Amino acid sequence: MSDAVLVARELAAGYNGIPAVQGIDLTVSAGEVLTLLGPNGAGKTTTLLALAGLLPLISGRASVLGAPVDHRRPYRTARRGMRLVPDDRGLFPPLTVQEHLRLATPKPDPAREKAVLERFPALAELRPRKAGLLSGGEQQMLAIAAALVSRPKVLMVDEMSLGLAPMVVQSILPALRELARAEGIAVLLVEQHVDLALAVSDRAIVLNHGRVVLSGEAGQLVTDREKLTAAYFDGATA
Ligand code: ATP
Repeated sequence: MSDAVLVARELAAGYNGIPAVQGIDLTVSAGEVLTLLGPNGAGKTTTLLALAGLLPLISGRASVLGAPVDHRRPYRTARRGMRLVPDDRGLFPPLTVQEHLRLATPKPDPAREKAVLERFPALAELRPRKAGLLSGGEQQMLAIAAALVSRPKVLMVDEMSLGLAPMVVQSILPALRELARAEGIAVLLVEQHVDLALAVSDRAIVLNHGRVVLSGEAGQLVTDREKLTAAYFDGATA
């Protein structure tokens, strides 16, 4: 696909040379949202870490905008526009919302900060507040907003909804969806809220025991509930 931004082919990665994921094939194009689904321990976080260059590949390959991801120099992948929002959100509790946004780019970019905050109005009112004093949902918005300020080409968000009420998740995911489309960002989500995630995704992949057991258009997976459930819980391949 010509507008493929993030590509993995036959990717295997893990810990101490032992693969936790194997044979992972995925492509995320500009403006597209792909969600990785799967039960605990399926290998979702491992896949994101390998794609970000934070874990070495055991075999296979991964690339961002045509350049191979090199785990010895993950900063190069970051410079090409890759941002990973980890499941612990990676915020600094004593720093304010404004300071997080300001630190997201080497040079201050107030126009960009303003544009991003327009997508997250609840956050705009909290600019002077320290991150450690925000609610879980506000912290998640801040983690995503800070990543967006840097104008990423690829944005990966790990378990955005961890500890958040579905209502809160519902308010963040559509904003992310719109931004991906408007700015041509390739978005890779890891989500536990299957229905909420599928509602904003173009495609989804189900991992189980470190392998892709199902992949398809999000709308198709929603209608083919039985297949999705079997893949998710039992690792049944389509
Ligand atoms: P969860 O939703 O629970 O985070 P996940 O799908 O993200 O699950 P991973 O965290 O990628 O799964 O874990 C995949 C496998 O790798 C699991 O068997 C897990 O125990 C193992 N694993 C994860 N982190 C490490 C680590 N640092 N060292 C060794 N094994 C690990």
